[in-house]
Amino acid sequence: MPIYEFNCKKCGRDFEEIVGMSDKETPPCPKCGAKETERLMSCFSSRRGGSFAKSSCGPPGGFS
Ligand SMILES: [Zn+2]
Repeated sequence: MPIYEFNCKKCGRDFEEIVGMSDKETPPCPKCGAKETERLMSCFSSRRGGSFAKSSCGPPGGFS
C-alpha cells in the first residue's frame, strides 16, 4: 500500500500515513488529533518518469 505524506493545517506537523482504499479521506494528525489535514502530492507526482529519487522530495530534514 502506498505511503502518503500529510500536513496538519492546525499545528503544521508533517507526517506519513499508509493509505489503503479510503484515500478520499485524510487521517487525523498524530500530534494534535486535528482532522484538518491535507495530502502532499509532491513526491508522487514526480515519479512518472520512472527514475524516482527519494532525496528529491520530502521536508528539508528528510526521512531516515
Ligand atoms: Zn496537528
